[in-house]
Amino acid sequence: MENKIAIFWFRRDLRINDNTGLDAALSGPVPVLPIFIFDPDILKKLPATKDSRVLFIYSEIEKLKHQFEKVGSTLVVYHGKPSDAFRYFTDRYIISAVYANRDYEPYALKRDEEVRNFLNNKSIEFHTFKDHVIFEAGDVLKSDGTPYTVFTPYSRKWKETLIKKDLHLFPSEKKLHRLLPIGPQPLPLLNELGFETFPFSFPSCHPCDDVIERYGDRRDLPGVCGTTRLGIHLRFGTISIREITSRALNLSEVFLNELIWRNYFIQILENFPFVLDKPFKARYQHIPWRNNEEEFKRWCEGETGYPLVDAGMRELNHTGFMHNRVRMVTASFLTKHLLIDWRWGETYFAGKLLDFELASNNGNWQWAAGTGCDAAPYFRVFNPIMQQQKFDPDGLYIRKWVPEAGTLRYVSPIVEHNFARNRAINTFKKALGEII
Ligand code: FAD
Repeated sequence: MENKIAIFWFRRDLRINDNTGLDAALSGPVPVLPIFIFDPDILKKLPATKDSRVLFIYSEIEKLKHQFEKVGSTLVVYHGKPSDAFRYFTDRYIISAVYANRDYEPYALKRDEEVRNFLNNKSIEFHTFKDHVIFEAGDVLKSDGTPYTVFTPYSRKWKETLIKKDLHLFPSEKKLHRLLPIGPQPLPLLNELGFETFPFSFPSCHPCDDVIERYGDRRDLPGVCGTTRLGIHLRFGTISIREITSRALNLSEVFLNELIWRNYFIQILENFPFVLDKPFKARYQHIPWRNNEEEFKRWCEGETGYPLVDAGMRELNHTGFMHNRVRMVTASFLTKHLLIDWRWGETYFAGKLLDFELASNNGNWQWAAGTGCDAAPYFRVFNPIMQQQKFDPDGLYIRKWVPEAGTLRYVSPIVEHNFARNRAINTFKKALGEII
């Protein structure tokens, strides 16, 4: 037993405190070596060498490594395929078990299955834990045992199912003396991973209680800082979902519901993985999208002539963030006004959003396009002018991102609203067989 070690594999849980899998590893009988793997199969899909998400992960990895080195251990960072990484580690150490928190995305599920098979062939146990969500796909089901596909009853059952234990925090940060005492190890440079460094300031993972308390009143106003900007932290696990859910329970029911939307879409992707590239509702697969490339380019660049749409796209292009209300408007505009396939918009957002999360992005795009479960009905076409008047009445947001709006320098609308609205409704109706 003496020379045996366990491995804790960090993935989308880049924190020390309240980390379920890390806590379990550190509570085991042997010292723990923490590792992180930069997987080229994930990195090569990223559209640019200047990627703020990679920068974010890299800086969190550096922080973890530094913290572990302060207590006489380290974080071993491997650049290569996970299967090669485990071959590397099993050649060098006598490993009794590998610990990790579960990831529910299709690629991750397949990767973990391969790693599990590899480890089991070497009689090494692979222990995985629930950490990224409060409830996994099988935890909140209808009374007949099938998954929910409508949000409101799902959220009701979610709240009924929640008990104190679900929000119990794991004291992983108190067990760092159980880490394997080895000296510092080299960290691959960012450019060795194929990425560049550049100045970027990330939102804090400590939203103040005031933002959460006033969330219900201010969350729809893109011109004020009324939302938490926690997306990237929840995505990469730099904040614990149990911790933020406890705060939501005490401070704001409206905010809690948004966290439940996140959990809802994660369980949809897990239960219905075909949504990855197909509409949730099969009858929507024959919508004849116009897919005009020139119009798509104008939408991407924030040059549609609709200030709220353009402000949103420019905010996204410049900062990697777009306010939720504006995400809904821009997504509706692309899929309804321009009749461009939601998958084009989804891919564009995926390449840009700091908080890109496959399940939430896919779920929300399908919601906006009307193709998803519990989606906005196809005849609901947001009027971008009215949305602007309602949610940015003083023009704070528009002035920031589209200063030329209202002047002769601003582009003319790409399409007239009423014409586009009728065209969208008729196209959907026809494709769904509602017009004979
Ligand atoms: P807050 O409003 O402060 O909410 C806190 C957290 O709750 C968010 O960080 C997020 O984790 C969760 N949340 C809030 N709203 C939603 C929602 N509608 N669906 C799922 N989770 C939610 N969210 C992502 O995390 N990743 C995405 O890739 C993503 N893509 C989207 C694409 C479209 C077309 C739309 C309409 C919405 C998308 N959202 C996505 C949901 C939402 O817009 C963002 O979660 C939110 O704007 C992030 O800002 P915040 O952290 O300040 O959120």
